[in-house]
Amino acid sequence: MRKFRVYLNFLVLFSYICSAMEFSSKLLEKAVYEMSQLPGIGKRTALRLVLHLLKQPEAQTELLAGSLLNLKKEVKFCKKCYSISDSSLCDICSDGSRLQSLVCVVEDIRDVMAIEATGQYRGVYHVLGGKISPMDRVGPGDLYIGSLIDRVKSGEVEELIFALSATMEGDTTNFYIYKQIEGLSIKTSTIARGIGVNDELEYADEITLGRSILNRIPFENALKNP
Ligand SMILES: [Zn+2]
Repeated sequence: MRKFRVYLNFLVLFSYICSAMEFSSKLLEKAVYEMSQLPGIGKRTALRLVLHLLKQPEAQTELLAGSLLNLKKEVKFCKKCYSISDSSLCDICSDGSRLQSLVCVVEDIRDVMAIEATGQYRGVYHVLGGKISPMDRVGPGDLYIGSLIDRVKSGEVEELIFALSATMEGDTTNFYIYKQIEGLSIKTSTIARGIGVNDELEYADEITLGRSILNRIPFENALKNP
């Protein structure tokens, strides 16, 4: 019991230290604040990273800051699939050997990278840039859904594969798109969920993910058996 109380006191003290971080320098405080704005980075981790950078040669920090700035200024999004690309048409969309009529709908470039790593997929992609999430105020208009519908309506697509994560937001987004293209004569399928519910594609192992693309099921079946 005593051990537990000591542990509890330690936790309280620890959280106090974290919340009331006193900085001896405004420059340090600002750098830590900006670093802690990144997802998954708390104040303590931010401080550790900033102190690490401070110990590195100045050229190293310049390389890091420069590459981030360049990325932000010069990054392009493929005009067809909206994946991050160095040119206006990404390598996958401009690859003549890829099946342009088979389009896999994904949330972001991490999913493209995960599926590409399987080496099992020869179609192309459409990157939505997120999922419909009313809680986070993300509606269909905030995503590249309109351009996907245009792509389907142009007649170039024969099959859409929904590969969003099996979350409520993923299912909502799939269903919204499905309703938009209902009546158009294209096939819709969804990746077989050997992957657990809530699993993000990027964490699925390559064999399971590859298999789930090859064994995809018609989207209508997934609706009947949620
Ligand atoms: Zn592209």
